[in-house]
Amino acid sequence: MKVYINGKLVDKRAARISVFDHGLLYGDGVFEGIRAYNGRIFMLERHIERLYASAQAISLPIPISREKMIADILRTCRANRIRNGYIRPIVTRGVGTLGLNPFVCRNPQVIIIAAKIQLYPPELYEKGLELVTVGTVRNLPEAINPRIKSLNYLNNVLAKIEALNAGVMECIMLNAQGFVAEASGDNVFAVRGERILTPPSWCGALEGITRGVVMELAREMGYDVSEEILTRYDLYTADEVFLTGTAAEIIGVPRIDRRTIGNGRPGPVTRRLTAAFRQLVSRSGTPI
Ligand code: PMP
Repeated sequence: MKVYINGKLVDKRAARISVFDHGLLYGDGVFEGIRAYNGRIFMLERHIERLYASAQAISLPIPISREKMIADILRTCRANRIRNGYIRPIVTRGVGTLGLNPFVCRNPQVIIIAAKIQLYPPELYEKGLELVTVGTVRNLPEAINPRIKSLNYLNNVLAKIEALNAGVMECIMLNAQGFVAEASGDNVFAVRGERILTPPSWCGALEGITRGVVMELAREMGYDVSEEILTRYDLYTADEVFLTGTAAEIIGVPRIDRRTIGNGRPGPVTRRLTAAFRQLVSRSGTPI
């Protein structure tokens, strides 16, 4: 595998960054997770926009233009013969002192990894993904805004540990007010009749690219889609709950906290949206 570091493609064993990089020392940096399907990169521009917005939000100047980032992502995919896979652009603050000051870090590091993707087993899409609510509260937007896709994922890692220790693979994270925020690495939706609801980002959700695409598809299909404050009551009493994310795509949720949601299987709305989403990924995207 060839990894891109600052314009060069190097063998993965030689792909190294300094132990003084603030990305490592402080989680000071930003990243994206992007999918390639059948030789095309899905929603590449939207991911690039979010990457640059995340960087802007943490005062991190990305040393290359959006156009060059796109060209270099494509180059990295070609070098690794990726037609289907997962692409991880990362921008770290770069080497600094052992102090916090980000402004002494003069060389942000741009890294691009293009790899095969580790998917959930197909049976999980038939059965759905069981969740628990975890005690780890989602970062306060006033502290670390969850709209920033930063390298500081400890909040999510702590939630994931709780989920795994409870014997499930994903979880519901609540915000400090007790409202539903998102899953540890996916967005959450609830279906109530013809209505499809998802928490607004100010409740503590990343503005997922998949979330946005699913909202658009659902509106085109005639559903009434809105961002609303959701409590666990709304999830427990929903007809269907599903998660969205670049890796997971759309996955139904049959149980939360051992309570059955709807009829305990991925429901018709989840299935219709999944079919529409799969169609969209197969016919759109930036050619590699
Ligand atoms: N929330 C969090 C915390 C995530 O890490 C992700 C995955 N990047 C998502 C939601 C889903 O976002 P996307 O659809 O852009 O992958």
